[in-house]
Amino acid sequence: MKTQEQEIMQFAYDFCHMMEWHNIDIIRIKINKMVRYKGWCIPDTQSDGFYILLSELTNKDNKDFFATLIHELIHARLASDIKTVKTSHMHGRKFKRLAKQVANKSNGFYSIKEIV
Ligand SMILES: [Zn+2]
Repeated sequence: MKTQEQEIMQFAYDFCHMMEWHNIDIIRIKINKMVRYKGWCIPDTQSDGFYILLSELTNKDNKDFFATLIHELIHARLASDIKTVKTSHMHGRKFKRLAKQVANKSNGFYSIKEIV
């Protein structure tokens, strides 16, 4: 049986595959007790990979939890493209363009507003 974190990791892999984002290396997705942020994408210092933290406060059965995961995957996607940490934290034009792609690909299941 898969653990909760393995199931979430599988969702992330399937999602990136669906989006045809093939250059993202997610090392681990961890759920913790963060209260200030719903999610956080952290570049690994040793590789081009990323750690994603998700707050346990957004319930895993909640759509918001997965919208948050997608939000962090967009950060990873942007950072994979440009290789700079600073820019990867921004929610500018490039971020919104990817959010729009997700909204289109999910046939509107996830709206741009939910993701950004
Ligand atoms: Zn963000």
